[in-house]
Amino acid sequence: MCKPNINTNSLTDIRHYLHQYPELSGQEINTASYIAEQLQLLAPDNIIQGIAGTGVAAIFDSGVEGKSLLFRCELDALPIQSIHNKPYSSKHLGISHQCGHDGHMAIILGLAKAIADKRPKRGKAIILFQPAEETGEGARDVVADPLFSQIQANENYALHNLPQQPLGEVIIRSGTFNCASRGMIVRLLGRTAHAAYPETGISPQMALAQLLQGVADLPNQIKRQELVMVTVVHCDMGEVAFGTAPAAACLMATLRTESNEAMQELVDIGKNLVEDTAKQYNLQSSIEWSDVFDASVNDEQCVQQVIDAAKVCGESVRLIDEPFRWSEDFGAISATSKGAMFAFGGGENFPQIHNQDYIFNDELIEKGRNIFFEIYRQLL
Ligand SMILES: [Zn+2]
Ligand SMILES: [Zn+2]
Repeated sequence: MCKPNINTNSLTDIRHYLHQYPELSGQEINTASYIAEQLQLLAPDNIIQGIAGTGVAAIFDSGVEGKSLLFRCELDALPIQSIHNKPYSSKHLGISHQCGHDGHMAIILGLAKAIADKRPKRGKAIILFQPAEETGEGARDVVADPLFSQIQANENYALHNLPQQPLGEVIIRSGTFNCASRGMIVRLLGRTAHAAYPETGISPQMALAQLLQGVADLPNQIKRQELVMVTVVHCDMGEVAFGTAPAAACLMATLRTESNEAMQELVDIGKNLVEDTAKQYNLQSSIEWSDVFDASVNDEQCVQQVIDAAKVCGESVRLIDEPFRWSEDFGAISATSKGAMFAFGGGENFPQIHNQDYIFNDELIEKGRNIFFEIYRQLL
């Protein structure tokens, strides 16, 4: 397929093109340059490239006082080999858009075109293609980039497709929408010994056993009425060698909470547990954090704005009682002012995101574009 053009090709063609050339988090160089090329064709007032590495934004500025709105999507794909067989399947071995960010990009590019055709009467509209969502680094890095001051908006909006839900259903709530989460990597270090004389070394065995139980108990120590979870995802110790008593052990767990405050408490008591346990057994210890996501918190008024727009577009709306347990880094952007993110039903028979057989439902492209455009139309 040759490069589709935003002015002459369909948004589905664009989605299929992006699908063929997926790039991993932080490496979305060709994707970003294609997006920038297409935005150029729409003649916005400003295009900003290189935000937090590969991020791209377009600004449509009325030049008249008014609100600023930001609509965000993600550039990155996943290190997953997809197993579907489409004419537009990924050409990059072991990498694929198994989260549907190709679809989100098509939606937001479609929105940019609709805004270019009907420019804001007041205020400004900002379109953001953000890098590295999957690692949780992208949105935080965008906010930390000095360029962010040029795109910081009064209200921020984003969606995520959600398969196995009715097609086009807008699923939303005020308050926490996605949980905070982070990976905890604990390393313990003692000293090896001959397996016949283990008492001459320092084994992490008992400390590891104690920590496996201890981390599972951490949520019980958080006195808050909200979801708090610790999931052990991996552990190992020593070498596969019957002659050697081990020196090193590693434990990895995913921490998950509804609020950022609870996450801070969980992190603090987790650190204490590791340090105390290591000390008790005369071991060295370290903790590393990975895949750090803040909670994504929805503003009540922005949620109402999404609901109103969805209704105008004829989509059904479902308010959920509890936040989704999965994480999304949009919260870092909405926390700079306010905003709302919603899950967008991808159709009952579509496989779950991050699965090898997942595929983005193209029917969502126009529907998503229309909801965002309606929000834009009502506010600007
Ligand atoms: Zn994902
Ligand atoms: Zn995603």
